[in-house]
Parts: sequence; C-alpha cells; structure tokens
Amino acid sequence: MLRRSSPTLVAATRTASLRVLGRPTRRRHRVALSSAVLLLASVLGAAPPEHYVQGALRYYMRQFEDPTAHGRLDPAWFDADAIRTELAERLRRGEEQRAIAEWLFNQAASAFLSFAPLDTRHDPEARYRVPYDENTPHLLSNGIGDSPSHSGLDLYSYDFVMPEGTAVFAAREGVVGRVLDGYTGGGRDDGFRNRANAVLVLHEDGSFAEYGHLQPGISVEVDQFVAAGDVLGRSGNTGYSSGPHLHFAVRLRDSPVATRAVPVQFNDTSGRLLLLVPGQRVP
Ligand SMILES: [Zn+2]
Repeated sequence: MLRRSSPTLVAATRTASLRVLGRPTRRRHRVALSSAVLLLASVLGAAPPEHYVQGALRYYMRQFEDPTAHGRLDPAWFDADAIRTELAERLRRGEEQRAIAEWLFNQAASAFLSFAPLDTRHDPEARYRVPYDENTPHLLSNGIGDSPSHSGLDLYSYDFVMPEGTAVFAAREGVVGRVLDGYTGGGRDDGFRNRANAVLVLHEDGSFAEYGHLQPGISVEVDQFVAAGDVLGRSGNTGYSSGPHLHFAVRLRDSPVATRAVPVQFNDTSGRLLLLVPGQRVP
C-alpha cells in the first residue's frame, strides 16, 4: 500500500520517484522527483482517474524499459531483468492497469530508496548542528507541524528562511545517498511539486537527512563522505516552495517504499542544546 512521505522525495509519494537527468561524471547520479509519483500516490487507493493511471503506467514503464529515456532510474539501483520479466508476465496475464502502475511505482520508490536500510532506529544520542553557518542565524519559518506540508510523515521538518545562495552545511556526518539536481524553477504551483533539488545524507544509524529546495549545482556526489559542517550546496527556492528557504528533516525508511521524518536534537557547536522556535532566528 502506498503511503505519503517527504517533501523532497523522496517521500513515499514524493520520495518515490525520480528521474536521472544526466551524468556529468560517472559517480554523480543526478536525479529528480517526478510529479507523476505524487500524482499517483495521492490518488491510488482512491480510485484514480483512468488517465492518471495510464500516464503513470507509461511513465514507469519508460523508467524501467528504455535505458535512454529522459528521466530514467539509475539501473544500478534495481534488477532490471527481474522487473522486465515480471512486467511482461503481468501484462500477459492481463492484470489491471492500476495494479501494474502501483507495482511499478513501488519498484521505482524502492529503487530510489535503496541506499537507506530498512528497520533501523534513530540514535537517541545523535546531535545535529544547524545546517548552515551558525554565525549567521536564520529564521525558522516552519517547525514541527507548522505548515500543511509539515504533517503526517513529514511532521518533524524544519524550514529555515535564507537568501538563495546561502551555503548549506551537513548537520551530521554521513555518506551522500542521493543527489537531486538540475531543477531551476520554483513556486507555489503544483507543476513544481517534486522538482526541488536536494541532497540526502545517510547517517551511521541508518537514518538520512534531507536538504531541500537547493540551487542547481550541488557540491557533493553520491557515495561521498561528508563531515558535519561540510558544504553540500547552496540554498535556493526550487520545487514547490513559497520563497527562498532550506527544508531540513531526518528520515527513517520504514518500508521499501515509505519514509517518515523523526524528531532530532540540535546543538550549537559548543554542545549546548538549541531550541528551534518557529518565528525566531536560530541559533
Ligand atoms: Zn519544509
């Protein structure tokens, strides 16, 4: 069953689908979320209109079948032969299109999330620094549950208002799991959903941090180790966004296709606990 998830991907729905936009280098996976995912996830289970199902089906089939298609998943993330074989079998059986679309969606979501382990728990001792230079405080516009987009599986999410181009720092050390890059536009229009640049950093305990709405031109690559305080990229206003800000959350992968944000504690660099109060600057 599909479940809703994150603002940048990777959301079950949002966290689910991506498009590889190109590969400037062999190591860099440029991926971006597809609005088809959100669409599909938001309507599946509620009798989606047939054209949605057909559109999603075409989208995912292209993702898995055509290695040259714009916006494909990285073949390194999944067993293409197994998926093609099962797809052919489902089509041969005449399985309902909606069921095939949902199955393909789940394959795409789990391929995208395959960098993160299942069934882990967040280390209660883990401490996070603010995801930017703490000498320049930024306004916390939305904290836990402060906006419609910070609810449900995205409840424990933070929006820091900052000018575009502000250096975004890793809040905790880890290894870069996914880079979503190449998007330039942003705004409060549904067309911008799932079109935010982002970096996902996997932590030692299996959780991962998402840094969203970044400017195109991410500074780090998949598999790169980053220490707390390392620059990941520059803040921006890409994707579905009401203005220049950084979206930050730490997530756990609860199922192959779904993630949820978890509460975390922030410290300043002297080790003192930081309270993140919406409407106030941090630190
Ligand atoms: Zn946010």
